[in-house]
Amino acid sequence: MDAARPAVSPAELARGALRRLARAHLEPTPENFARAYAAESGHPAPAPEARDQGPAWVALIEQLTCNLERGSRQWTGARRKESVRRVLDSSRSDAPRLLHRLHMLMAAWENDQPSNPMDTGTDDPPLEAPAAGAGADAAAAWLPLVKGFEAVVRASLPSDEPRAAELAPQFSALVAALASESPGPARLAEFEALGERARRLFAHRQELVGQLGALCRELTQGLTELAEDDGWARGQCEAVQARLAEGLSARGVRAASVLLAETRERQRRVRLDRQAARDGLKQLIHTMVQEVSQLGEQTGRLQTVTEGHASAIESADTLEGLAGVVQAMLADSRAMHSAVSRSQERLQADSARAMGLEERVRELEAESRRLSEEVSTDVLTQVANRRGLMQAFEAEVARHLREGGALAVGLLDIDNFKKLNDSLGHTAGDHALKSLAASVRERLRPGDHLARFGGEEFVVLLPRTEPAEAQQTLTRLQRGLTEALFLYEGREVFVTFSAGVTGWRPGEALEAALERADEALYEAKRTGKNRTCAA
Ligand code: GH3
Ligand code: MG
Ligand code: MG
Repeated sequence: MDAARPAVSPAELARGALRRLARAHLEPTPENFARAYAAESGHPAPAPEARDQGPAWVALIEQLTCNLERGSRQWTGARRKESVRRVLDSSRSDAPRLLHRLHMLMAAWENDQPSNPMDTGTDDPPLEAPAAGAGADAAAAWLPLVKGFEAVVRASLPSDEPRAAELAPQFSALVAALASESPGPARLAEFEALGERARRLFAHRQELVGQLGALCRELTQGLTELAEDDGWARGQCEAVQARLAEGLSARGVRAASVLLAETRERQRRVRLDRQAARDGLKQLIHTMVQEVSQLGEQTGRLQTVTEGHASAIESADTLEGLAGVVQAMLADSRAMHSAVSRSQERLQADSARAMGLEERVRELEAESRRLSEEVSTDVLTQVANRRGLMQAFEAEVARHLREGGALAVGLLDIDNFKKLNDSLGHTAGDHALKSLAASVRERLRPGDHLARFGGEEFVVLLPRTEPAEAQQTLTRLQRGLTEALFLYEGREVFVTFSAGVTGWRPGEALEAALERADEALYEAKRTGKNRTCAA
């Protein structure tokens, strides 16, 4: 102990020891505290019994032989040997210290940390080396976590937000700095401040999501009111509202957007139909007016002719003359009669046609209502629709309750379908949907279910199937489809799909499983399409 050192009270020494532990990121265990206290008071820590260190030396030598030849980015073979030599030179007379310093060195090699091996040769008090070393150990252990955390934060930061764009490189720079130095209080404060800024951004984003949800609810509510007379749009709006009411989900919001787009498309078609009906009616009225005016002309001509015949009768003085007039009158009246009855027939036919059309429109409306409300098969693809899917799901849940066993749920979405529609037309798109549904259907097992979930999305329910197996099944299906082209107007068309699968968790609603499958589907789309991911 330094003779010139002023006397320090035990309480101050204890405080100093605790400060040392905090600086070195060491837990205040009795052993650590004793060593810190000894270092604070200037006394070397009592050396552990040499025999206690035997196994530690064995382990160390093993570690050393494994690591010595293994070069890395920071620690080349030559650097490793040099650092071992220096540690030996500086601590050969103090076995515990030597053991400890070699351990430190191993940790630095294994984490490939750019530590300064020269430091190990300094003559620090015994605690300083372990403390700094433990700090480096802790930092090395935390570094992958910090890096992972940084990756998560970067991925979550919205790319279109200037504040986020600013924050992301700052996070990376800080993590790079943490990788090359032991984190001091300043760095930690910097990390905390960046974390806080990210937290605020996320909270703001969350608020935005909430507001978008409210907007979706408003819009669907507005549509429900507007769609008062349209059973189809009304039903769809109510379905989306019900889904949004269950909580904001990516599927719910997307369903709302799809609904808006479909409703707009449907309104456009209804407008065109109305226009066509109006034009048809105008044409019909025009024809009838023509008929009536022709009838008028005929009756006008009849009047003139009748007047002519009357004067001919007046002036006729012979029987033959009168007979001729009567014959002319008969011929005229027959011609007139047949013209009138032809007009009448045509008017009757037009009127029957108008009534027939009206009846047909009524029938079609009833048919489409019945199809959307009652039937469980999708008209286009002839696989189950949403209603059919719910029926199948309920049956599978009942089976699960009776027999147990897994149920895999898969969500399939055609790749680049918009492009196919845009380049080959909507009819080709419909053809592709039918072809895909048929191919998938024929490749599934008899007990599996396939349903068109809407647009270009399909759902499969695979009973007695674990998610990993379902992933294989769908991947096999994808490979099968890659070989199966379909022909459209003599051209070969390729259709692929991406899929997400998950295992149904007993008790959960189908929608919850589909939400998970959708996340996996999104992953499949993001990572190249025509593949299946599991969640
Ligand atoms: P991705 O690979 O990311 O799934 O892209 P995508 O183009 O398939 O997806 P997106 O959602 O952009 O487009 C889907 C298209 O599917 C838009 C819509 O017009 C079309 N679609 C939806 N239902 C039908 C349908 O019944 N028939 C036809 N022909 N097209 C449909
Ligand atoms: Mg889609
Ligand atoms: Mg698609």
